[in-house]
Amino acid sequence: MSRVYNFSAGPAVLPEEVLREAADEMLDYRGCGMSVMEMSHRSGMFETIINEAEADLRDLLQIPDNYKVLFLQGGASQQFAMIPMNLMKNGEADYIVTGQWAKKAWQEAQKYGKANKIASSEDKTFSYIPDCSDLDITPNADYVYICENNTIYGTKFKELPNTKGKTLVSDVSSCLLSEPVDVSKYGILYGGVQKNIGPAGMVISIIREDLITEDVMKGTPTMLTFKTHADAGSLYNTPNSYCIYMCGKVFKWLKNMGGLAVMKERNEKKAKLLYDFLDESHLFKGTVVPKDRSLMNVPFVTGNAELDAKFVKEAKEAGLENLKGHRSVGGMRASIYNAMPVEGVETLVNFMKKFEKENV
Ligand SMILES: *Cc1c(COP(=O)(O)O)cnc(C)c1O
Repeated sequence: MSRVYNFSAGPAVLPEEVLREAADEMLDYRGCGMSVMEMSHRSGMFETIINEAEADLRDLLQIPDNYKVLFLQGGASQQFAMIPMNLMKNGEADYIVTGQWAKKAWQEAQKYGKANKIASSEDKTFSYIPDCSDLDITPNADYVYICENNTIYGTKFKELPNTKGKTLVSDVSSCLLSEPVDVSKYGILYGGVQKNIGPAGMVISIIREDLITEDVMKGTPTMLTFKTHADAGSLYNTPNSYCIYMCGKVFKWLKNMGGLAVMKERNEKKAKLLYDFLDESHLFKGTVVPKDRSLMNVPFVTGNAELDAKFVKEAKEAGLENLKGHRSVGGMRASIYNAMPVEGVETLVNFMKKFEKENV
């Protein structure tokens, strides 16, 4: 068996320890004679799994008691609709458009009400985060929406926008659990877990309790109402039980690593290795304004599409996989989530140095 360094943006690398543990438990989970995939989601065994997962997540993120944690299906994309359906009481919300995911969320919200684009960085291919310290927040807006880490473009809000008292809703799909955050600053923070946490097919939505009400948009399906899932502890219907189990293992792995403050340091170290090299390289260059650089997704280019393709191909042959940039940007992108070891980034940088020598 040999494992590659997987720089995929998602589904993405998982901690090897977690995968080994899951493999060990595959046929017989802790003496119950079946795998987690085969057991009832109403069983005591699974109840322990989901309760521990939630408790460990609460512990890692220091989630205040007045927030619910929901494990939902439909991925992050389903939240694009669920959020306006559940939160637009005045029928209006403000969106800050910093990339494709924020744009999709903004477009989806237009189906349900008035979605105002109050800021955007599309003028420069989403290569920066606009100044959000004094925006024209709509007085009637039910919430202000951001995508905090832009997976495709590699930008990150280093400071949250000044929402002037409005509820902040944030898509944290590609940065959730990469560093500590103050949950109390958000109304909702949510993320698809296949980026930085677990297998694909689930979103974790952390929602302040007062935002979970029966007063939702007329016609909202039961399954798209936050209250349905909050009241049932994410067990209204059959959840993605195996995914919850895997995420639970990753939460324990993160706690063993020392928690989110330690992960932040480790992630900063990894990102610095790569950005420092990009800043001194004569061949490669980063595509993002330095102050807005993401710790998780690092896009870069040579400026020559043929050379980019050659790099991606040769990197793959060297065991460095999934470095091709998103189809809308081209070039390369290295996603260096929590589970990417420091040695993976060191190997990548050494490979880039070698490629540079051979190609300039
Ligand atoms: C990947 C991603 C999504 C979409 O996630 P799905 O689970 O595929 O719906 C949304 N937002 C961000 C920031 C992402 O990185």
